[in-house]
Amino acid sequence: MVSLKEYIERAVNEKFALGAMNFNNMESLQGIVEACKDERSPAIISVSEGALAYMGDEYTLALAAAAKKVHPQLFLHLDHGKSLEICKKAINMGFDSVMIDNSALPFEENIKLTAEVCKAAHNKGVLVEGELGQIKGIEDNVEAAEHHYTDPEKAKIFVERTNVDMLAVAIGTSHGAYKYSGEKTLRFDILEKIEALLPKTPLVLHGASNVCDELVADFNRYGGELIEASGIPEELLQKAVREHNVVKINTDTDIRLAMTAETRRVLSENKNEFDLRKFLGAGRERVRSIISEKIRNIFYSNNKI
Ligand SMILES: [Zn+2]
Repeated sequence: MVSLKEYIERAVNEKFALGAMNFNNMESLQGIVEACKDERSPAIISVSEGALAYMGDEYTLALAAAAKKVHPQLFLHLDHGKSLEICKKAINMGFDSVMIDNSALPFEENIKLTAEVCKAAHNKGVLVEGELGQIKGIEDNVEAAEHHYTDPEKAKIFVERTNVDMLAVAIGTSHGAYKYSGEKTLRFDILEKIEALLPKTPLVLHGASNVCDELVADFNRYGGELIEASGIPEELLQKAVREHNVVKINTDTDIRLAMTAETRRVLSENKNEFDLRKFLGAGRERVRSIISEKIRNIFYSNNKI
């Protein structure tokens, strides 16, 4: 059985990425798992603190265990842990990796707390993702009004002093469905500087859904009102994976959009429908198809097991 650490090292060398897909209920998870199975792809299944609170610890663990039984190359990850306590809780629950997000704290405090999490996690063979810089947008308990791009020099100090296994960088991606109002770019110049100083450090992109037009159109066609939603263009994500050390790409918004767009479609086309399996099942199929596409076209992690 290949470990998460091995997959991440392979991903740096072979230039592919692991999708880190957030789930909030059984159907969204099933869609993700089936896609990974279809594509023979390893992947990370993520829960935020909010998702953990929503599903509850027991259901979260049981769902993740079922997912791993169906497809063993899945790894359970805590997304945006805000404290040592929540990270320790996830470590003790048997998560494969945790993210400690102290990016809003002053640099020295971020280093200190991240290093503490690393110590606790590494003792139990759990990997840690830290974050430096701030990603614009809103996601559960994470909110930032502006981009604060990662400072490459600080990134080097941060990685060396904390011992993190993965580093989330801010280069212009955003949380949520409104990622751009102007020109759609990412700061590849910053990424290059980080990689020059940290050539083997696995990097992570948050807020990297591509919010494709087709999903938004379907969402709106059946009564939604997501006006001017926009995501990260596929070509920019492909470049980040193929030419850089981005090995974990977080995807939450697209999964939410797929579930909701299909639910809206089924319910508005069938006004008398109240069988949950009909609309949640349709959502699950849409999640499966968008994740399959991402695996093949953005993560390039198909046939990696
Ligand atoms: Zn995030």
